[in-house]
Amino acid sequence: MSALPLFRPTLVLLTLAAALLGPADAAELKLRILQTADVHMNLLNYDYYQDRTTDEYGLAKTATLIKAARAEAPNSLLFDNGDLLQGNPLGDVVARIKPLPRGEVHPAYKVLNRLGVDAANIGNHEFNYGLPFLRQAISGAQFPYVSANVVEAEGGKPAFTPYVLLERQFKDESGQPQRLKIGVIGFVPPQIMQWDRQHLQGKVQALDMVEAARRYVPEMRAKGADLVVAIAHSGIEKIEQPRLGENMAVQLAQVPGIDVLLLGHAHAEFPSKTFEGFPGVDLQRGSIHGVPAVMPGRWADHLGLIDLKLDSASGRWQVVDSRSALRPIFDRAARKPLVDADPMVGEAIAREHADTLAYVRAQVAETTAPIHSYFAQVMDDPSVQIVAQAQLAYARRAVQGTAYEKLPLLSAAAPFKAGGRQGWNNYTDIPAGPIAIKHVADLYVYPNTIKVVKLSGAEVREWLEMSAGQFRQIDPKGPAEQSLIDPAFRSYNFDMIEGLNYEIDVTQPARYNAEGKRSASQARRIVNLRYQGQPLDDKAEFLVVTNNYRANGGGGFPGLTAERIVIDAPDENREAVAQYLASAKRFNPSADGNWRVLPVAGVRLQFLSAAKAASLLQRTPQLRLVKENADGSAVFELAD
Ligand code: MN
Ligand code: MG
Repeated sequence: MSALPLFRPTLVLLTLAAALLGPADAAELKLRILQTADVHMNLLNYDYYQDRTTDEYGLAKTATLIKAARAEAPNSLLFDNGDLLQGNPLGDVVARIKPLPRGEVHPAYKVLNRLGVDAANIGNHEFNYGLPFLRQAISGAQFPYVSANVVEAEGGKPAFTPYVLLERQFKDESGQPQRLKIGVIGFVPPQIMQWDRQHLQGKVQALDMVEAARRYVPEMRAKGADLVVAIAHSGIEKIEQPRLGENMAVQLAQVPGIDVLLLGHAHAEFPSKTFEGFPGVDLQRGSIHGVPAVMPGRWADHLGLIDLKLDSASGRWQVVDSRSALRPIFDRAARKPLVDADPMVGEAIAREHADTLAYVRAQVAETTAPIHSYFAQVMDDPSVQIVAQAQLAYARRAVQGTAYEKLPLLSAAAPFKAGGRQGWNNYTDIPAGPIAIKHVADLYVYPNTIKVVKLSGAEVREWLEMSAGQFRQIDPKGPAEQSLIDPAFRSYNFDMIEGLNYEIDVTQPARYNAEGKRSASQARRIVNLRYQGQPLDDKAEFLVVTNNYRANGGGGFPGLTAERIVIDAPDENREAVAQYLASAKRFNPSADGNWRVLPVAGVRLQFLSAAKAASLLQRTPQLRLVKENADGSAVFELAD
């Protein structure tokens, strides 16, 4: 009789005690998640192509932001989302030029270990130097690596650790310690099987990211994950992606059990206006279908940050509020740095940095003539042709073993540094003699990536017509001197196409305006268009190597949209140029004259370039100096 009343309060007390000491009842906890992504070996804020420090990117700068972000929050975790080991000359030096000795720590991990990274994901570029190098490199990481959708080609076992459960002790809002299991899972675009076929075929297989998530996330929950952080090396698309898609953020956000989505790969910034109106996107909170998400740009130019509020009132930890933000290292509008570099990075990788400086400054080849762009808008020119040839060399390897291997390959390139509105010093100007990797910046200034599009002969013809809009219409009966170039036309839209021969008749009206709209006239400026000596067959199929800007519709070229891309390469055009230069020992950069502006009888076709280009006319019998101007420019004309 008396036992029960005595027993009951004890039970209540025990329950109360369990509630107070137990896993999480009614506690509130703030957790800050920090993310870097797509660092691409920009550990230091150093531009190895230009051989100078930069304020615009580099993990040394972000490291300072990481310190500050940690100081503001008692609980934090730091993750890296891959594309870490490749992307600049430092990456090449460690992988290829002065290969990492066995047992030595890769410079990326000398830095990330010191930063105290909690876990990291494997990006597509991690595969660029092959699997043995990748495994050797990441063995130096003092934190776990995850990758859930890459399996061994035989047997289908995971090729890497699919996920980890990190046990961490945090302080809750009342100052009490709380132990949490943080599940961390990683994903990489299955397109690695195309991009790095030569390294991966027969060794690994890549699975659909969402399917891998659906398989592992419940398992992580079952093993007691209080929170699941998905690190997806993947971007955000506006429309639903097919199975095995590349940018699957929206679909991953809808996988039950994922609490946090760390994104990358697309080098975009989330949250930002770029994603306004995307389905499921809340830019105020920085979430996708309610899941907090962040994508911190590229090259460590931003730190990604998600502040979570967790609550255990329901009996398990739940995210009850979140806010995602990006912290930039550089103020783009004011063009000034927002933060100093952390000297730790320079100290940690001093030797590798010195090795890289020696590499970019050393001769990789020799040019027997100067390479300059002073006349690239009016005649075939080595500075543009070298880029076109480098792209061809890259694309020939990329199409091998694909359905497109047998198609004729052309290459489009344009003068990027062409004076004018960017100043009369803004030209490529490499003297004859040694060529170094750092000259690549002079030949290819934009961080574009290589794309190959498939077009008909007729479409290639229209591409050139659009380019030919650079020229003003010349009146054969007009003044004896007429200016040839429309200064409003952007030089980077003046694509020449290597692999074809053609002439440009500037007495005809432009077939397209600057927006790619056809003019009323049926006229054509591109004449005598030939492929391998024969008139171009409008019905034949061609591959054209170009860059992501053009292939995705940049410049409004007729018929050029992303659907025409058949090789979506992840590598930068300037890397192809660097490889091309490094593989050529000595070259004579004479242009082959595959295109020219047709002379107009009775009219002197004039244009502006830098006055100092006059000294190069000896080598250029096609051109004459007319007069020098006071502003550093000069008038030149085509010789008949
Ligand atoms: Mn990347
Ligand atoms: Mg040429």
